[in-house]
This record gives sequence, C-alpha cells and structure tokens, in this order.
Amino acid sequence: MKKTLLAIILLIVAFLNLNAQPAPYVILVSFDGFRWDYVNRGITPNLDMMQENGAWALSLQPSFPSKTFPNHLAIITGMYPEHHGVIFNEFRDPFTCEIYAIGDTSEVRDSKWYLGEAFWETAERQGITTASYFWPGSELPDRYRHPTLHEAYEHERPYPQRVEGVLSWLQLPQNERPHFITLYFHDTDTFGHRFGPHSPEINESIQRLDGMIGLLYEGLDKIGMRDSVNVIVVSDHGMTEISIDRLIDIPALLKNYKCEYGGSAPVLMVDAAKDKEEEVFNILKQNENHYKVYYRKDVPEYFHFSDNPYIYDIVLIAETGWSLLGGEEYDHDKMKRIHGDHGFDNHQTDMHGIFIASGPSFKKNYSTGTLWNVDIYPLLCKIFNIFPSANIDGKLERIGFLLK
Ligand code: AMP
Ligand code: ZN
Ligand code: ZN
Repeated sequence: MKKTLLAIILLIVAFLNLNAQPAPYVILVSFDGFRWDYVNRGITPNLDMMQENGAWALSLQPSFPSKTFPNHLAIITGMYPEHHGVIFNEFRDPFTCEIYAIGDTSEVRDSKWYLGEAFWETAERQGITTASYFWPGSELPDRYRHPTLHEAYEHERPYPQRVEGVLSWLQLPQNERPHFITLYFHDTDTFGHRFGPHSPEINESIQRLDGMIGLLYEGLDKIGMRDSVNVIVVSDHGMTEISIDRLIDIPALLKNYKCEYGGSAPVLMVDAAKDKEEEVFNILKQNENHYKVYYRKDVPEYFHFSDNPYIYDIVLIAETGWSLLGGEEYDHDKMKRIHGDHGFDNHQTDMHGIFIASGPSFKKNYSTGTLWNVDIYPLLCKIFNIFPSANIDGKLERIGFLLK
C-alpha cells in the first residue's frame, strides 16, 4: 500500500516537472541615444537580422523629459518620471536642498530618490535571479533593491568586456545563473552629442554598437543558448541637431529677478520668489518664442510632468533643436562644442528610440508602430509570468501582442 502511494506521488512529481515551463532568459540591451531611424541607414546587419527573426517597432517613444536616467528608470519600472522620481539627470529636492546628479555616485546609489519598483526587484521577489551589466538605478545597496549580480558603472569599460561579462553570467551553474540581464552602451549618445545625428562619426558609432549585437549572438551560439535567450534592444531616446545660433538666454531675460534654475537646455525649470512668480511668468510668456512656458500644474497632461514636488513651479520646453540657457549643463562655450541633444518633447520623432526583440517568446518577422517605453516593464512581467508592481503607468495591452 505504502509502495503504491509512493509510486503515485513520484508519478505526480514527474508529471508536474514535465509540465513546468523552464524560466525564460531575457537580455535587455540599451543603446543610449540610438535614434529610431538609425536602423534605416543600411549599416546595421545584426539589428537587421534581429528584425527578420523577431518583433520590432517603428519607434520607441520615450517618456518626458527625453533624458537618460528618467528614461532608463521609466523602462525598468513602468512608471513616468513624475512617478518613479528621477525627473532629470540632475535635480534638487527643494525641501532639503539635496541634489541628485548622475555623476555623484553616492546620490546615484541612495535609494531615497527611487520611488518605483525596478523589474529586477519584482523578479527577485518572485524567485528569479537577475543581473545588470550597467543600468541606471541598479547600484542601490539596499537588500532586495538591486539585481543579485551587478557591476558598478564604469564609463570607459571596453564594450567587448561587457558582452563577455554577460556571457559568463549565462554559463554559471543553473542555480546561480541569472535569467534577466541588462547591458548598456553609451556610444551613440556620446557621438550624437559631439558630432550630431547626421555625421560620419555617428555612423561609425552605430556600426560599433551593431557589432556588439553580433558579438553577443556569436557568444550565445558558442554556449548553445542562441535559441533559448530573448534579446531586447532598446534605446532611451533619440537625438536632434542643435546649433549655437538657436540659443535663448533665459537668465538674461530675467536679470532683474533672483531665480533658481533646474533641468537642462531642452527643458528648463524656473523657481522664482513666490511674490514675483507671476511677473516672472508674464515676462517668459511675453517672450515665448521657440519655447513654451507653463505653470507646473498646467503642463499638458500628455507630458505626464507635473505630479512631482521636485518639479519647479514654472516649466519651459524648448522647440526641438533650440536650447535654453540657465540649467545644469550648458553655457555658451559648451554649446559651441556640441551638435546634438535630446530632452525635448517626447512626441517629436527625433526623440524616439528603438525597440527590437528576438527570441523564443517573440513573434517572428513581425513589426508594429510606435511603442511607449513605460510598457516594457509589464511586457517583461508577462514574459516571466510574474505579477507586476501595482500603480505602474505601463499597459500590457499596448505591447503584449508582440509575444507568441
Ligand atoms: P545624458 O546626459 O542624458 O545624455 O546622459 C548620458 C550619460 O549618462 C552617459 O554618457 C553616461 O556617462 C551616463 N550614464 C549612463 N548610465 C549610467 C550609470 N548607470 N551610472 C552613471 N552614469 C551613467
Ligand atoms: Zn541617454
Ligand atoms: Zn545624451
């Protein structure tokens, strides 16, 4: 009797094991500043191959402002910057006067700034091991808030070494091996700023990054994982040409007022003394040429950029290709040296990035229109069949049809 019972239990266990789906693998690759149309230049054989074998979008619309940290966090949390908290690459908490800046490692690693739940947190809580070869927000020291395996950001780390790092994680013993891995390259952002999106230099950069996809697939082939891994290539935003002839000096317009400035050249925030705010706003409104000015509460709803206490009360958005002086990064001298920028209205196609996904979870040779980057988080949850965090802005309905 006991023997029969044992045999039945063993049979049930074997049956369940047969039916248990092995956890999928996903490598999420980010090419910083890789504009949506760079894949149409005939110089990206590896991305072309991914498109043929997978599912891809005409473009990926970033969240506003179309900057690096706000958007990498939008992708990984499924929330707009106003909700995940990192509203710019640099911003100030007006209550404590503490400053978050992407170059300040101790602030970048301080979890108080990060209000969203990153996909690696969601996944780890539900039993999936994750890893990050660089991603904004992946270096928080708090237990449960970082991927099990992660590398501290090092701008100069050679690209092939990053790819090798990912491949070596995939060769770890089964019980240590991550199933979700991020991988980041800054090249097209750096060269897009320096030389502009139409330069020969950006084309070399595009080819360099495409080559990294080639290297990744070569490695996956060698370790026998090419057919079992989903590779998703995204970018955080695009790039547009800017010019020293399209500058607007906001502090000069407001020289009679004591104001704090925040944000950057495409999107500037102005904080004026309360009793002067209306005067300041009126001056900005009277001079509203090649930019738009709003009170924070009136920023058009489609920007999703008012529901956060760190956004100053006056917000200026430059016309695409124009630059507002006054914010963090730019002065006249720097403007002479840069020829491309991003941060502008995220609906402008120059600001759009790419989404190309290939692997066992995705349809083959399938293309669609523009996707939104906040929808990638629920897509990842669906691939792993886990519960997303509550209160996200992303919606699976707008992207789930890419899956088989
Ligand atoms: P942006 O000013 O929006 O063009 O930001 C791009 C820059 O962000 C890159 O050149 C990188 O130096 C920087 N960056 C990207 N990822 C990280 C990271 N995880 N930690 C610190 N800096 C980063
Ligand atoms: Zn970027
Ligand atoms: Zn940039």
